[in-house]
Amino acid sequence: MSLNYKADIVFRNVSFIHSGRANSIAVKDSKIYLVGTDAQTRDVTGSDTKTVDCQDMVMIPGFHDAHLHILRLSANLTKLYCGPERACTITRIKELLELEARKIPQGGWVKAWGYDHELLLEKRHPNRGDLDRAVPNHPVRLDHVSGHATVMNTMAMRKLGFSEYSVDPPKGVIDREEESGFPSGLFLDMGEYIGKSMIPYRDQSELQEGIILANQLLISRGITAVQDAGIGNDLERWNLFKRLKTLGLLDPQVTMMVGYDYCEEFRHTPIATNPLRTGLYVGPAKIMLSLTTGSLVPGQKSLTDAIVSLQSNGWQVAIHAVEQEAIECAAKAICSASKIKSGARHRIEHCSEGDPTVISLVDKSGAIVVTNPGFVWHFGDKYRKTLGSNIVSNIYPTGSLENRGIPWAIGSDSPMIMPDPILDIYTCVTRFSKSGNPVGKEQTISGSQGLKAYTYGAAYSCFQERELGSLERGKFADLVLLSRDPTGLGYYLPADINVKMTVIRGKVVYEN
Ligand SMILES: [Zn+2]
Repeated sequence: MSLNYKADIVFRNVSFIHSGRANSIAVKDSKIYLVGTDAQTRDVTGSDTKTVDCQDMVMIPGFHDAHLHILRLSANLTKLYCGPERACTITRIKELLELEARKIPQGGWVKAWGYDHELLLEKRHPNRGDLDRAVPNHPVRLDHVSGHATVMNTMAMRKLGFSEYSVDPPKGVIDREEESGFPSGLFLDMGEYIGKSMIPYRDQSELQEGIILANQLLISRGITAVQDAGIGNDLERWNLFKRLKTLGLLDPQVTMMVGYDYCEEFRHTPIATNPLRTGLYVGPAKIMLSLTTGSLVPGQKSLTDAIVSLQSNGWQVAIHAVEQEAIECAAKAICSASKIKSGARHRIEHCSEGDPTVISLVDKSGAIVVTNPGFVWHFGDKYRKTLGSNIVSNIYPTGSLENRGIPWAIGSDSPMIMPDPILDIYTCVTRFSKSGNPVGKEQTISGSQGLKAYTYGAAYSCFQERELGSLERGKFADLVLLSRDPTGLGYYLPADINVKMTVIRGKVVYEN
């Protein structure tokens, strides 16, 4: 008699948030086989079936971070951290860099990250003079927490070929010293360019060490799928992700967006990967719509043309838009493009300043929004100090998106903040900043709505809702076991909820 109808693994004594009397889930061939009562899953339990007693803890679909930057996160995890918890002044950053340089042989790179100029006492970015004084004999690279600015010392700039003759790239800015015209050391929106120039200086073991740390962080937070939003994602990146997946260094499913400049090369090179097997997918084309140079780049017409052309080649498009002006431009472009082709699910990433007129435009455009409510907790105090009250009440507008019925998802935008879905959902519910100040209370939503955005919403945002995002037969067995129900947040602190187990494609990858 064939036993092939038996499950590979059965989780018993499970609490589900909404599944009637069901308290058990069976998994077979990396998919959910049955959600039912213990009696029902007993029928598919054979002698080879592994059973796990979940002790009435809560099981939900795996968290799906719809927008982050894995390679930057992994690189940062191996760099010196200079964020506000460790350095509130440029003087302190210099001390940290100097101490770090002592550990590195002369000429080796000192790599640091995490400063936020708005939170420094001096209220400015450090410059090459600051870094030269602290570390004269090593090249130094110090990244802003946002990833949108980098500071280097003179030795680092020379190594990468920067001089007074360097020309600003189209979307970035080389800040310059007034008199000499020499780069001041501060580079805006040039992270991808600088990153690529540094490839000869990067060593593989460092990359691997960072990826292992990032992977551990993701699975320990219950994240089973991620979407990588790198604007520099090209074929080489794709091959790197493929290698990392093959080596088993990255457990979560990865959907890699493709940088706008590289979409053509993807069209001309067949991508031989079976995503259902490898867990690696090609995601949307990513376009940066930025105000760094003082005006919107690209402009309205170029953006619309780009989306129309990309969608005619089958691309879904994800547009980085933070400021009100940028979001409006993105929404108008998506609206025009949708008249030519519907169902493309074009996305607006961040949608930070979402006042009601902007959100109504977004609604009309048919766009999906991937926003970052976690920023409210991390940066809310700064927003209250530096932004007008109208902007603050509509920042990361989870409530408005929900009320309008706009499809939306949550991304951590890590390494802007560390990935932490439970804390992000808590922030959706409470709209508290780190120090307990309310930030845009009007945007409060329920824990269930936050959880849906972190699971089903994220799957929908990349056309994966048939495979992921809920606990249903036939979907991938990407599951998280939590010590408590995260939708009841608001009554207790997120620190009270622990990720007990993370399961990806039916395999237990993390246990605590
Ligand atoms: Zn991002």
